[in-house]
Order: sequence, then C-alpha cells, then structure tokens
Amino acid sequence: MIEDYEALIIGAGPAGLTAGLYLMRAGIRTLVCEKVLPGGAPLNTGRIENYPGFPEGISGRELMDRFAAQARAFGLAIREFSEVKGVSRTEGRFIVSLNDGEAAADGLIVASGSEPVKLGIPGEIELAGRGISYCATCDGMFFKGLDVAVIGGGDSAIEEALSLANIVKKVYVVHRRDSLRAQKILKERAFNNPRMEFLWNSRPVEVVGTREVEGLIVEDTVTGKRNTVAVSGVFFYVGYEPNTAFVGEYVDCDPTGYIITDDRCATREPGLYAAGDVRKKPLRQISTAVGDGAVAAVSLERYILERKG
Ligand code: NAP
Repeated sequence: MIEDYEALIIGAGPAGLTAGLYLMRAGIRTLVCEKVLPGGAPLNTGRIENYPGFPEGISGRELMDRFAAQARAFGLAIREFSEVKGVSRTEGRFIVSLNDGEAAADGLIVASGSEPVKLGIPGEIELAGRGISYCATCDGMFFKGLDVAVIGGGDSAIEEALSLANIVKKVYVVHRRDSLRAQKILKERAFNNPRMEFLWNSRPVEVVGTREVEGLIVEDTVTGKRNTVAVSGVFFYVGYEPNTAFVGEYVDCDPTGYIITDDRCATREPGLYAAGDVRKKPLRQISTAVGDGAVAAVSLERYILERKG
C-alpha cells in the first residue's frame, strides 16, 4: 500500500526538520523520511557555539532533539530508519520508494545532506568526537592554543586551515603531493601564515591516542619513512559527497555533485526542492540549513496550493 502525503521531506537534519515545521504550521500533511535518527550532521558535533540563541553553547544532540520536538509538536511525522531507494514521478505526483515501503506526495524536499569523505585510517572512527573533526568552523575553538593537523590540499582544507590558524598554536597541513590543489589566493595566504607548516608528500596512516587524539602518523610517499606528528586534533578535508543518488535524474548538479537550485530552493523539476548541505551554496552551516528549510517549505506550500487551484 502506498502512503499518501501532500509533502515529503528526505532527511531529518536541520534543513528537513525546519521545512517540516513550516509545512505543518501551514497545514500541509507532511512526512519526513530519515535514514537513521533525526538530527543530521550536527549530531557529530560535541558543542555548538555558533548557532544563535544559546549563549552558553549547546550540544549538537540537544539542539537537534529540540528541533525534532518542536516539529513533532505541530504533528510532523518523522519516520526513522527509513532510507530512500528511489524517486519517480507518476501523473504529476512523486512516488518515493523506501526500504520499508512506498509513499506518494505532491511535492518533495531533498534535505539529505552531504557526507565528509572518510579516509578509513586506523583511529579515525575510534577517536571520533575526541579530537577528530570534519568541521573547523564548528570545532576549531576547542583546540585554542594547541597544535592540530589538517589533511588535504584542496580549497576546503586550506580555507579551514587558515581559519584554524587564527585560533590554534600551529596547523600542520598534511598533503599527499608536493603542491596544493587549492586556489592561488588561498595558497598565498597559507604560505605567508607563520602558524602553518606543510608536510608535503605525506600520507596519513593512523591517528593515535588513548582517550583523545595525541598524534598523527604520516608516511613520506617518496622515502616510505614514517613519522609521528604530535597534535591534539586532526581535521579531515579530503572532499565531500552529497547524498543525491536517489534523485539524480530529476535535478541538475554542479561538477562536485551538489544540487543546483534557484533562490527559492527550486530545482529544474516542478515541485522538487533542495535544502541544506545537499544544495549548491557558499556556506554550509546549521543557520544556513535552517534558512533553506524555511524557504523550501514556503516555496513548496505555494506550489501545492497552486496545483490544487
Ligand atoms: P577537493 O577539491 O576534492 O580536495 C580534496 C583534497 O583531499 C585534495 O587535495 C586531495 O589530494 C586530497 N585527498 C583526496 N583523497 C585523499 C586521500 N585518500 N588521501 C589523502 N588526501 C586525499 O575537495 P574540497 O577541498 O572539499 O573542495 C570541494 C569543491 O568545493 C572544490 O571544487 C573546491 O574548489 C570547492 N570549494 C571552493 C571553496 C572556495 O571557493 N572558497 C572553498 C571550499 C571548497 P589531491 O590534490 O592530491 O587530489
């Protein structure tokens, strides 16, 4: 049996839960399908200090529990462990196949986020949240006055390394080649920053530490020699992967795979919107995901009302 809704949201992170809240308050019957549990990327962040309204900071989990509770208070249905396998369109309606059934809706918001690429080296998972980070903007302040390593040589790695250099004592940039992929302007800034040191031709092989990160073992790709760099934090910036596989045929993406929308969060497919980290945009933060969620919901509400005449 196909469950029937007016709106369906894929992903219960900040963007999806905000969109759900707005749609329920607008009287639109909405379901949110969440692959795991509500909360999205902020669940990986111990303390959030840059989301307004919480002067003492708040844990990612508590903040997202509040998002979910607020949306549920307006009757939002959040289906946990419900993974989208595919999206199709029949007679103007969206049919979404899930691992636990099928749902139909007049409109769809894709808020499925993106995943930092994991290197898969020993210690990366074991020390997650205890010195391993994928977000300098979120976690940089926790390493004030300490030494950290940033892995990667792209724009994200160098931009975030520069921002960390304003806070920490020293940033080791660990890059597998002898030249950076990052833009010239970022490279110039980085090379002129006295708090940054480059470990060229260096392949990270293990993060070490008992309770917290204590060091990073790197291997010289030319000599094969291994060396332990003493650091309290390791930031991974080896690329991101937006979660769009299930919706590919209905949207246009930029060369890195992010969904292209207009300023109403609309994709090229009528009735299909994208919000949050999955969308092509200049800044991926909880605050911008919330903004996207609100914009996408209001756009979808208008689309549904116009469809119904
Ligand atoms: P990226 O450009 O794909 O760079 C990833 C970096 O990680 C590269 O230096 C790569 O090394 C390294 N890497 C990949 N796999 C690795 C592995 N297995 N082991 C060690 N190192 C590995 O990713 P990004 O920096 O996140 O940027 C993504 C896109 O967003 C890019 O198009 C970028 O231009 C854009 N972006 C733009 C801005 C900006 O304009 N301000 C800011 C951030 C991102 P190699 O270089 O050897 O391949």
